[in-house]
Amino acid sequence: MPICIVANWKLNGSRAFNTQWALEFFKNFNGHNFSSLGIAPASLYIDHLKSVIGDYDIKIGSQNIDLEQTGARTGEISASMIKDLGCEFSIIGHSERRILFHETNQMICQKLIQANNNFVIPILCIGESAEENQSNTTFKVLEQQIIEALENVDELSSLIIAYEPVWAIGSGKTPNPEEIDSVHEMIKDVVQSRFPKIGLESVLYGGSVNLKNAYSLFEQKNIDGALIGGASLDGREFALIANLFNELRIQQ
Ligand code: PEP
Repeated sequence: MPICIVANWKLNGSRAFNTQWALEFFKNFNGHNFSSLGIAPASLYIDHLKSVIGDYDIKIGSQNIDLEQTGARTGEISASMIKDLGCEFSIIGHSERRILFHETNQMICQKLIQANNNFVIPILCIGESAEENQSNTTFKVLEQQIIEALENVDELSSLIIAYEPVWAIGSGKTPNPEEIDSVHEMIKDVVQSRFPKIGLESVLYGGSVNLKNAYSLFEQKNIDGALIGGASLDGREFALIANLFNELRIQQ
């Protein structure tokens, strides 16, 4: 089962938070299949979160990896290290990393290769800025981000793309669901037509997803799930969003 509903906890959390979150989550999640769910805590807490989640098959991942495997790179964490901790995926190229830490598409490309070499599924984030959206260049910008990130990758056994408009992250604003659907269709077309050796599993949407808007997003044919920041910090809300996703997908 591909990873469909993913929590990005960003720079939040503690051991007490992990325990409380899991309590709220398990009280409210009514599904039986945990393997479509993912959580990306701060890397420091991966081990503790895994012990709190126990035997439930919720995937744990990191929010970033380094572009090298080893070396004199103080403060970095490699794909092999997160794999060693039992992670199955990593978010790569989140807009906060692109903007605050100056990550380029070329660096992102190297990170994708690292992830693939270590059997970690990359969740590649792409998205346009507010200005790009207003000037109707969204498709062009996304296409360029995809091409630059993938053009030097020979092969990827699995790839998840998260479409995250920069202006929608943490703002309470989202494009309308039909717009997102057409962007996702375009992303699938570009990857499948230009990069036949890349195993694109799914395209998630991210940017102010919450319990109120989740249903209308999940109804769209090309929205395969969600990457959720703020709303994922509440174990109850994350569980209820996952329940909505399951209800809809089981009906289809
Ligand atoms: C994110 O940062 O990946 C994200 C989607 O955040 P939020 O849900 O808070 O907009």
